Amino acid sequence: MNNPAPQQPAELLARLRATFRAGKTKPVSWRTRQLHRMRTLLTERGETFAAALHADLGKSSTEAYRTEIDFVIREIDHTLEHLDGWLRPEPAPVPAFIGEASAWTQYDPLGVVLVIAPWNYPAQLLLAPVAGALAAGNAVVAKPSELAPATSAALARLVPQYLDTDAVAVVEGGVAETTALLEQRFDHILYTGNGTVGRIVMAAAARHLTPVTLELGGKSPAFVDRGTDLDTVAARLAAGKFLNAGQTCVAPDYVLTDPETARALEAALAKAIEGLYGADPAASPEYGRIVSERHFDRLTALLDSGRQATGGAYDRETKYIAPTVLAEVSPDAPVMQEEIFGPILPIVEVAGLDEAIDFINDRDKPLALYAFTESDTTRERLAAETSSGGLGFGLPLAHLTIPDLPFGGVGESGMGSYHGRYSIETFSHRKAVLAKPLS
Ligand code: NAD
Repeated sequence: MNNPAPQQPAELLARLRATFRAGKTKPVSWRTRQLHRMRTLLTERGETFAAALHADLGKSSTEAYRTEIDFVIREIDHTLEHLDGWLRPEPAPVPAFIGEASAWTQYDPLGVVLVIAPWNYPAQLLLAPVAGALAAGNAVVAKPSELAPATSAALARLVPQYLDTDAVAVVEGGVAETTALLEQRFDHILYTGNGTVGRIVMAAAARHLTPVTLELGGKSPAFVDRGTDLDTVAARLAAGKFLNAGQTCVAPDYVLTDPETARALEAALAKAIEGLYGADPAASPEYGRIVSERHFDRLTALLDSGRQATGGAYDRETKYIAPTVLAEVSPDAPVMQEEIFGPILPIVEVAGLDEAIDFINDRDKPLALYAFTESDTTRERLAAETSSGGLGFGLPLAHLTIPDLPFGGVGESGMGSYHGRYSIETFSHRKAVLAKPLS
């Protein structure tokens, strides 16, 4: 298969729609073939993606495989294992007044899906939704992020070598190219990124009544209860926060805890960071870099939002910012006004659980909420009294690696979800069918 010459969005859409109309993408055999081909792409070209991710974000090879390449392979394997079952029509009971008849729901592919991906996990966040859209029997246009140019180029070059170019296209570019794509009528759009652009995407989609899935971000809190084992808490918090230099949508954004626990946690976090990256994280091959100078400048301006308990060093030339913990941070401090999306962890002090719950509920609904507690009552109260895209007790980030859990936000952190069978729900129409014999 050759990489076809770039086309104008209208021509591209017409071509992909013709493929869909001809029924090519609908047989389950075609879908599973595409998933197998994507799997081969990732196994054969894993090193190319790892190198691109290192060039874009300083990601170590271990991290590139764990959070992007192998992540998508697991998603594909899970889908291949369960797809037949997920697609099986579901019978529905027929009320007596209709007489003899049968009824069921079936999943219909939607048509041509647009996937717009961000730069922070630029391979995973493009390929995982594309895998879902293909598994549901759609044609797909995928737009990687221009802020991860090496990964974007690798995807644009390699995807057409592996997937069916009649049905899958990668379109590179920034705002202008995305705006041009958004003028077209798609049958579904999945956008991952920030809420400002999310609103632009939704407004463009509204012109065509196109449904959207918005995978957005926000400030995900981590509540640390009194009396927990702070070495364990700190190790897990630091691993979740400083992965990809904090540029993770579900990273713990800030810690909420009582003043006494805060003091002890500061020291435990410093120890945990050293355990992960050594005494000088700048020299650790496992520690990433900030994606751009604009984000670097935005982040360094936040470094004096509180007392620096650990970290604070930075270097603009290499876009390095040390894993930093800020103590005694005021809720009014600049670092608490926007999603941090970088390696800065503020600790905000609250009197206890009631105040923590109020603090969370006074703000936008986060993509994730984390809590470290031994108390069932505290867990139950957080689950019942707060709203967030996902909820993790004792371990940040890991909920999104569970393939049978939906991944998505609520309120300002997004709408809709995907992963596993939820991708089939998202990228299909669930059609109601009634069949009554004529005699
Ligand atoms: P980004 O800048 O890469 O933008 C995302 C996409 O939007 C890119 O493909 C870009 O080309 C496109 N885009 C940018 N401006 C546009 C415009 N004006 N019109 C149309 N398209 C446009 O990514 P970002 O927004 O910096 O990503 C960071 C945000 O994404 C954070 O808030 C983070 O929490 C969130 N995020 C969410 C998830 C999730 O799964 N929920 C995952 C990763 C990141």
